[in-house]
Amino acid sequence: MRKQGGAKGAGHARVVVIGGGYAGVAAALRIAGKAARRRVPVSVALVNPSPLFVERIRLHELAAGKAPRRIELARLLRARGVELVVGRARRIDAAARAVEVELAGGGGAGAAARRLDYDALVYAPGSAAAPQIVPGGGEHALSVADAASARALHERLRAAPPGGSVVVVGGGLTAIEAATEIAEAFPALRVALATRGRVGEGLSDAGRAYVGQALRELGVATREGVRAVEVDASGLVVAPEAGGAAPGAGAAERLAADIVVLAAGFRPAALAESSGLATVAGGRLAVDRWLRAPAHPEIWGAGDAAAALDGDGAPLRMGCATAMPQAAYAADSIVAALAGDEQPPPFRFAFFIQCISLGRRRGLIQRVDPRDRPLDRVITGRLGAWAKELVCRFTVAALRFERLRADSHGWAWQAPRPRGARSLGAAAADERLPSGAAT
Ligand SMILES: Cc1cc2nc3c(=O)[nH]c(=O)nc-3n(C[C@H](O)[C@H](O)[C@H](O)COP(=O)(O)OP(=O)(O)OC[C@H]3O[C@@H](n4cnc5c(N)ncnc54)[C@H](O)[C@@H]3O)c2cc1C
Repeated sequence: MRKQGGAKGAGHARVVVIGGGYAGVAAALRIAGKAARRRVPVSVALVNPSPLFVERIRLHELAAGKAPRRIELARLLRARGVELVVGRARRIDAAARAVEVELAGGGGAGAAARRLDYDALVYAPGSAAAPQIVPGGGEHALSVADAASARALHERLRAAPPGGSVVVVGGGLTAIEAATEIAEAFPALRVALATRGRVGEGLSDAGRAYVGQALRELGVATREGVRAVEVDASGLVVAPEAGGAAPGAGAAERLAADIVVLAAGFRPAALAESSGLATVAGGRLAVDRWLRAPAHPEIWGAGDAAAALDGDGAPLRMGCATAMPQAAYAADSIVAALAGDEQPPPFRFAFFIQCISLGRRRGLIQRVDPRDRPLDRVITGRLGAWAKELVCRFTVAALRFERLRADSHGWAWQAPRPRGARSLGAAAADERLPSGAAT
């Protein structure tokens, strides 16, 4: 195995992490903790626009009215001596190995800026809503993809009159979770789900049957086999997905709605592309099998914003379940590089389960094979809801464990095995579609 290059092997190394989500926080804590344990002199700075950690996997709960826990990034990071820089990375100058940050609170032309030089960079700015999937989506639709959108959606739901209607666009796990959560929290509203293909396409027959039952019990109407062609102030226009109808064409149909929620995919952060780094899959940072940007081995990518490859060579789907193991791998690789170790084996990941909440009282745990294909086994009902809740708690607990003891947590990066691979990291597995993958 060859020795690693691209990061300092001796002296005080500067590591910058862009993004304070699941991947960024996990990476920063682990780098600082492991470097301290190995006595590798390092300073770690994490850049995030907000001083608070957002539990994105609970944003449909926020939209439905459940107050989020307040998790201060500074408190989370302090124990490991990671500096929190509250601001937005505006540009990565890869040639100069520096990140230009617009500090929060600056605003306008005089916005305070800071330049962070790095020896190693973790690129983890995540993803956001993808309103461009449907014309009019940016102006007229809401989403659960970020905290501000989820709060705005909650306000609209609260203000909607009894009998008001909500259409959720998408049939994947985020759309199912959003529709069921809204229907349960706002029983006076009429909720519908409109999707290409079938609702819960990636689930087993048993899994889809249970989702269908939960949707019916919660009064959620489903429109399958349609694609969203336009959103406007009075609802959503759909067309049969096979027909190729454009807005206004005969086959198009209007689904009147007071509120349209787009939950058909996320858009990766645009920073890599706007900084001139190589991207794939709609703007995700291109990374090699070691999660490093091919032309810049001192940059590691992790989470929704990076296109780590699955066992078939396609970009891994977005999910905190995939983001956190990538972050752990990147962190270990960075510390190894700084210590002058040999390059570790490539990143590997095996799926185990998908977890879907269906309101607060029902849930579905879908067993999948290492490549994320559904198996027959499912857990449903209250037990499923409880298991999903545990998985959500586990993600934040994992960050806290990492803060207390670096490497205390077993992350999954084993090779896919025919009969499945078990690991704590994979236990949070779930499906989130890349931007535009399904409507
Ligand atoms: C409602 C909902 C439910 C979900 N449920 C599940 C689930 O059950 N299981 C699962 O695996 N996945 C789930 N997901 C997907 C999961 O939330 C994401 O895949 C995960 O958050 C990705 O982690 P990340 O760290 O890459 O990005 P994020 O969590 O998005 O964090 C990125 C951070 O970077 C910050 N940032 C962005 N741009 C910049 C910049 N220029 N400079 C500095 N910082 C920046 C962002 O503000 C954010 O704080 C769900 C998503 C949603 C919306």
